[in-house]
Amino acid sequence: MTTSIKHFINGQETPGSGGATQPVYNPATGQVSAELHLAGQEDLDATVAAARTAADAWAEASIAKRTAVLFKFRELLAASRDELAAIVTSEHGKVLSDAAGEVGRGLEVVEYACGVSQSLKGEFSDQVATGIDVHSFRQPVGVVAGITPFNFPVMVPLWMAPVAIATGNAFILKPSERDPSASVFIARLWKQAGLPDGVFSVLHGGKETVDGLLTHPDVDAISFVGSTPIAKYVHETATAHGKRVQALGGAKNHAVVMPDADMDVAADHLTAAAFGSAGQRCMAISVAVAVGEAGDLVVDKLIQRANDVKVAEGTVPDADMGPVITPQSKARIQRIVGEAEQDGAAILVDGRDLVVQDHEDGFFVGPTLVDRVTSEMSAYTEEIFGPVLVLVRVDTLEEAIELVNANPYGNGTAIFTSSGYAARTYTRRIHVGMVGVNVPLPVPVAWHSFGGWKDSLFGDHHIYGPDGVRFYTRGKAVTTRWPEVSEASGASFAFPSSGKH
Ligand code: NAD
Repeated sequence: MTTSIKHFINGQETPGSGGATQPVYNPATGQVSAELHLAGQEDLDATVAAARTAADAWAEASIAKRTAVLFKFRELLAASRDELAAIVTSEHGKVLSDAAGEVGRGLEVVEYACGVSQSLKGEFSDQVATGIDVHSFRQPVGVVAGITPFNFPVMVPLWMAPVAIATGNAFILKPSERDPSASVFIARLWKQAGLPDGVFSVLHGGKETVDGLLTHPDVDAISFVGSTPIAKYVHETATAHGKRVQALGGAKNHAVVMPDADMDVAADHLTAAAFGSAGQRCMAISVAVAVGEAGDLVVDKLIQRANDVKVAEGTVPDADMGPVITPQSKARIQRIVGEAEQDGAAILVDGRDLVVQDHEDGFFVGPTLVDRVTSEMSAYTEEIFGPVLVLVRVDTLEEAIELVNANPYGNGTAIFTSSGYAARTYTRRIHVGMVGVNVPLPVPVAWHSFGGWKDSLFGDHHIYGPDGVRFYTRGKAVTTRWPEVSEASGASFAFPSSGKH
């Protein structure tokens, strides 16, 4: 019997009234592992109504009460790390250590949210005019919906919900329909931590459910993370419906390798950053830009390391990399590598036809290294989102910067060098939101914010950290006078001023 995965509405698990279901797969075996209940209109309306009521009460809860729940949730989440990692591996396919790592990065955001009192302190100006003070503070936006991708079923929802909840909002999560179990597990932890019903809900579904949230009059803000075309659509649709939106999109992350880099370090990092999680990370390095002789110096090391990557089911203790998410993903990766080959690129390591023993029906693709790729090839222009590293060769740092800046994506990038001058020039001139110097996956810690530029983010705010607090709150400025005795001072028809000019 397959498990059925339910919604979490107003504190209860329920199959809802939509009626439709969809299979969830274990990508390592290719077998159906569960049936997912999809929301109907009634479920959507019930979830939003519960969130609305809960948001009004939760916004009135003291910061002490809210953070007490956050601290308890942090404890429960930390204690559940291995259990959650196993759930992620069974539906996503990534190896257990990687899944535990994503829970850890989510935990960091919870810890940041535990200290939200510091971020909500506000500002005060004494005596701006005689007897008049001004203070500014921030209040919750209300009901927030988060729509999340398959590739981080724990971490990305935790980029959003802890900050939204700590700042006094109700949060509705619409997780990816490919690996939805982790979100229901997390909902149970919130309840156990003492979060009032309706403050955190999970609603399963696809486009229809997303559209329902984007257009619902009682949803105030949307946090989205996913591919660029959907991010753009979500941003346009939800802003047209008067909502505040942050929509993080896809990526094509370049790592520049300078000739003065330590080539062993660069090759190790590039291999892990390109093939970890089967390349299905928004910060995965998918393009290595080798400057001058760096190409010849690094290429053999990359071949050797790609061949050493152990591909297996994610539960195998020494596995480096698991399967990709669907057969469609596998087919897309195979097609793009095939096109590169036809266009004259050199396939140095070819994982297209990899078969993992005893997992013949799993959605596996092996590490693939493609050299002599040019910016016109689909292997360069498309987000492959698989274990493929393409190597582009250029002559100078200037050329590398021009290449990266001409790319429509601007999520993450890295430079490997031993020159402070090259690193400084690159970090200042590059049109990318997150930059690593000898660090391949520069995912900011939770008290900085995460976000790309250009087609990697639509909206004004990055996610989590200080930008997360700003996104989930609205500013208010209060001007106050408390005269000693109440006496009529006479009406003034001039525009109010501090009296200086
Ligand atoms: P996706 O865009 O297919 O799906 C993301 C979410 O949108 C899911 O919840 C899905 O149900 C919903 N959705 C899908 N099609 C829709 C439609 N037509 N209308 C409305 N909603 C729709 O992304 P994915 O395949 O789940 O995830 C991989 C993508 O996410 C990659 O492009 C990756 O780069 C990106 N990503 C970006 C970041 C970031 O921080 N910028 C982080 C993680 C993933």
